Amino acid sequence: MKNKIWLSSPHIGENEFKNVKDVFESNWIAPLGPFVDEFENKLSKYCNTEVAALNSGTSALHLALILHGIKKDDIVLCQSFTFSATVNPIIYQNAIPVFIDSENETWNMCPNALETAIIKYIKINKKPKLIIPVHLYGMPAKMNEIIYLSNKYDIPILEDAAEALGSKYFDKPCGSFGNMAILSFNGNKIITTSGGGALLCKDKNVIKKAKYLSTQARDEAPYYQHSEIGYNYRLSNVLAAIGVGQLDVLENHVNSRRENFSFYEKHFEPYNFISTLAELDGFFSNRWLSCILVNPNNEKKITSEQIRLKLEDENIESRPLWKPMHLQPIFKQYDFIGNNICKTLFETGLCLPSGSNLEITHLNRVFETIKSIL
Ligand SMILES: *Cc1c(COP(=O)(O)O)cnc(C)c1O
Repeated sequence: MKNKIWLSSPHIGENEFKNVKDVFESNWIAPLGPFVDEFENKLSKYCNTEVAALNSGTSALHLALILHGIKKDDIVLCQSFTFSATVNPIIYQNAIPVFIDSENETWNMCPNALETAIIKYIKINKKPKLIIPVHLYGMPAKMNEIIYLSNKYDIPILEDAAEALGSKYFDKPCGSFGNMAILSFNGNKIITTSGGGALLCKDKNVIKKAKYLSTQARDEAPYYQHSEIGYNYRLSNVLAAIGVGQLDVLENHVNSRRENFSFYEKHFEPYNFISTLAELDGFFSNRWLSCILVNPNNEKKITSEQIRLKLEDENIESRPLWKPMHLQPIFKQYDFIGNNICKTLFETGLCLPSGSNLEITHLNRVFETIKSIL
């Protein structure tokens, strides 16, 4: 059996190991410490926001909803084409997600569908409380259009930038546009702390409150006193030590992933039934995952699923695109606004191996394997 080629594996270096050794030697094994501070400061500079380092992207989303005052029966407009972690915290708050379709140019929240949804819910006196666009696979959403609607109807934006650290929209980092934003450092993301996340916001006081809520909402007193419900959501100093090392190689990871994408783009060019997602003017994707769309109306009736199975035979991991949330059994009772563009993306798309540690021999093996059935 040939060596396994993974979809997106962690890529860790000597510096991360050295930092973790530091942590052991200094005995800062706790959900606070110098590396948590340093990680926050570095992220803060990079994203141009204040930052709270947390133990996952999901807990960052949960705190963001709490800080926006999202509660029972509130309407939250959420991109349907995403990972379930975007939606689960809406349910934790007993609020109601309304799923918004994607457009074909970025695969993210369609501004037209968004406005249709806003108007629909304002009409029945249930004005939505929050808009959650996602920069899926690292491609920025059409933020100008979404911000325009956010201002027009006075509904704040929470950006899910879990997959988009290193991506830019008109030279500004993804995660710096919303009223708040979140990042993830899970094992397969562009940089990782094994598990981790961050909440971003320009307002210092909001981040202060997030840190307080994430450490069990302790009042200022020598004993443990609580006036609010708290959470245990802070990032460990051990993991922040890995994160500090990873931030130093973020640019390299982005470059490698973009090179992977260019490789696939160039090699699939001759096949007119296979397409990739181009960047619009002003859009800069970290190309977290390289994806292809396979139009099944081709001579040999090749589908993305046949390609996935062929790759699997050769010990190469690939994956269908995210299954939209409005098609998930657990979320099927919720409203969906749009034309099912994201359903077609799901049915015809495939994520190819995209790690920043892939070598050209790996990429060639992926391409040759696919080519053998085209
Ligand atoms: C990974 C991811 C999350 C959740 O992050 P975790 O750190 O795994 O909790 C949220 N949204 C999207 C779009 C993601 O890809």
